Amino acid sequence: MQEALLHSVVKLTKTRDVDSLESSLLSTIHEFIGCQQVSIYKSTCEDDSLEVECCLSLQVTKSKQYHWSQSQKLENPCSELISCLNSACIIAIQSIDGIETKWVPITLADKAIGAIAIKSNGLSSSDQVLLNAFCCIYENYLTILHENERDKLTGLLNRQTFDRKFKQLVEKQVVKHHKTSKSNQNRQLQSETVSWLAMLDIDHFKQVNDNYGHVCGDEVLLILAQTMHNFFRASDLLFRFGGEEFVLVFEPATFEEIDSVLNKFMDRIRNTKFPFVNKLTVSIGVAKVGPYDFPIHVLEKADKALYCAKTQGRDQVCFFDLMEQSEKLDSDDESGIDLF
Ligand code: GH3
Ligand code: MG
Ligand code: MG
Repeated sequence: MQEALLHSVVKLTKTRDVDSLESSLLSTIHEFIGCQQVSIYKSTCEDDSLEVECCLSLQVTKSKQYHWSQSQKLENPCSELISCLNSACIIAIQSIDGIETKWVPITLADKAIGAIAIKSNGLSSSDQVLLNAFCCIYENYLTILHENERDKLTGLLNRQTFDRKFKQLVEKQVVKHHKTSKSNQNRQLQSETVSWLAMLDIDHFKQVNDNYGHVCGDEVLLILAQTMHNFFRASDLLFRFGGEEFVLVFEPATFEEIDSVLNKFMDRIRNTKFPFVNKLTVSIGVAKVGPYDFPIHVLEKADKALYCAKTQGRDQVCFFDLMEQSEKLDSDDESGIDLF
């Protein structure tokens, strides 16, 4: 038992990303603690309303079959889960048929960001000790992984995690794509909503450094990152890509929605007070993310659109598709093709 336990801890801490850590945690809990179901829930605060997702769940059926399910948004999270998240305390309830559900909070930087739920016929005190220990190892390791994924200055995701996060988002999109293509009435919606990648670069940032020094430049980067973090949805991925360059990946939305949200964000930046700098602006290049796109190709398109926004005078958003269309019209014009 002790040897097996040690092996499971080694296996848990061998993982390098949060998803593998979580599937490893659930199979370990199931292996050492007899239970019918064990699940991980994560919460996000969107416009002051709490949103909860069941990220991963492992259920053991009566015929001893394992059933994994993932990524399900909860319409109505139960009151025990809400209490666990609000109080960051363990909550347990027992149903009339004797099934006990225990909710153990997951905390990151002293804040409950989710919970682990375990359904069983009641845990012995040694099971309870094991469960608490596994949850602590998970929490500690989650903190390290979380810090490794982030840029030290701004706290946004770093470039090293981009490919993996992008792949996860695209995979989610492929799953949704398959689900929706089964349903005819959603075809229209599916063709209109895609994910988007935006590349954002501060205008004339070198002048900020040259005029007010690097410390002021760093402060500007930090305020910009905080403004981004507060402005966009928690489900949008925000990366600091290089010095004063950021990449944003948005979940599916229509062209009009993305165009409007990015223009509102540029307005927010124009109206944000930065130290010393009277007025700061950014330029943004945007490209669509198709379900089968490679990250490098989407980045290249967004980069071209960003270059276009810079050359057209900065402080504006440019979409790769629109840019391509107008370039095509220009070249058709030049080659003398009569369009009408
Ligand atoms: P453009 O409008 O064409 O983007 O002009 P720019 O001056 O913003 O562009 P450029 O790429 O020439 O300059 C980027 C500057 O960003 C150069 C470098 O001094 C500064 N920079 C890069 N990383 C950091 C950082 O971490 N902190 C600070 N303070 N400055 C940085
Ligand atoms: Mg730059
Ligand atoms: Mg710049």
